[in-house]
Amino acid sequence: MIATVHSALLHGGQLTAIRIEVSAEPGLKFQMSGTRDPVMREAPDRIRAAFQSMGWRWPGKRITMLLHPLDMHKSGATLDLPMALAIAMATARMPVPPHHVWALGALNLSGRLCQPDKGGVAQVKRSIRRLPPLTAVNHVSQAIDTMKHWGQLAGHDAVRKIAWPDIAWDASTWLVFELVASGGHPLLLEGHPDQDKVAFAHALHKVLEVLHKRQLPLREPAGMLSVKAFFSPSGEWDQSTGGLLFVNQAQVLPASILSAMGQAMMATHSPADRRWLLLARNPCACGYQGSQSQACLCTPSALSAHERKFNVTLLQAFHLMHVMEAGKVKAQWDELIYRCKKARAVQAKRGVLNAFASKSVIQSHFQLAPSAHEAMLKEGLRQGQAHLWHLCRVARSAADLDGTKHVLGRHVALAVSLSARVGPLGPGRSLSTSQAPRNPRSQ
Ligand SMILES: [Zn+2]
Repeated sequence: MIATVHSALLHGGQLTAIRIEVSAEPGLKFQMSGTRDPVMREAPDRIRAAFQSMGWRWPGKRITMLLHPLDMHKSGATLDLPMALAIAMATARMPVPPHHVWALGALNLSGRLCQPDKGGVAQVKRSIRRLPPLTAVNHVSQAIDTMKHWGQLAGHDAVRKIAWPDIAWDASTWLVFELVASGGHPLLLEGHPDQDKVAFAHALHKVLEVLHKRQLPLREPAGMLSVKAFFSPSGEWDQSTGGLLFVNQAQVLPASILSAMGQAMMATHSPADRRWLLLARNPCACGYQGSQSQACLCTPSALSAHERKFNVTLLQAFHLMHVMEAGKVKAQWDELIYRCKKARAVQAKRGVLNAFASKSVIQSHFQLAPSAHEAMLKEGLRQGQAHLWHLCRVARSAADLDGTKHVLGRHVALAVSLSARVGPLGPGRSLSTSQAPRNPRSQ
């Protein structure tokens, strides 16, 4: 079996990425290529001692280790930990996570990590900002436990069995996707007919099934529905409990359904009555209001009828409102699921998904930093109390994805920008009912 762990070394004042590749095959030899440094070549002795401190014997395998780039000069002991993890993975002592594994640190003979060179670690963190945050560990066993936990968290078997769609969206759509998948927030998704809102819903459902490790209901009501049928005991609302209710083309639904949905969302639900709610709509009846490529053919009265349908009660029930734009950011499913699982693990400790957190959970467990309080206060003056609770929930989800203990001002700012009740979202337009719709014909 072959395992790869990523690390970094300072080389000529520059941080250089190092890839450690380890293969384990039957036999009993150890071979290392890519360094002549005596300290680095003694790493197997330190790792052997570290393994012993955990009660592990050195694996009875023929182990080949390559340190890429092979021709670069490497020295020191900071690759000890990544080497140990690579050996543990290659010899099936721990699962191989589906995402890249990054590690850095020198080991002493009892398996403890030597005091790291702070500057080096900070530099590594900066240069791999796009990747999951590094977890600080004291001992090689703690690193391995963390990795095992990640392995479970990432559920890599499930990820690999599913054929993931190869889709590309704009970056903020991906962010919204992660917030919804990890935090449970109801989303109003708007986009022109060329934006594939159905793909968004189906990918979300897949991710939720991976996160929950089981099949979940997916309800996609089609056509005209009556309020009664929709909310009857075996209707769409009921059947989607615990899963995803995806209402596409919401602009063609009767206003009565939309307003009943808003009321149902605002009502207090028991934990058993929870679902992911995704409402997708075109920006107008023809679909092209605000489009750069096609002209909107709607009359002013059709436009205002469209806006009236989505009344304030309904809009207030959504935590997130987002306009999907064309984009080129490709799906990174493994990383996305890893981040969602990590955010979920933090939420599990609070006992509830952020979207469903009660006011008392928010007050006692959401940990708003002073900067977040300031941002909330500013927003509260503009929007009023009710809206703030949703902002707290979304900001907490952003902080959980970010891996910060406290909700910071920037998380609140993000929640504000994605709640769309303030300011324009798309070019010159807004999802808010308070803003008059723009129509080329009426100007
Ligand atoms: Zn139109």
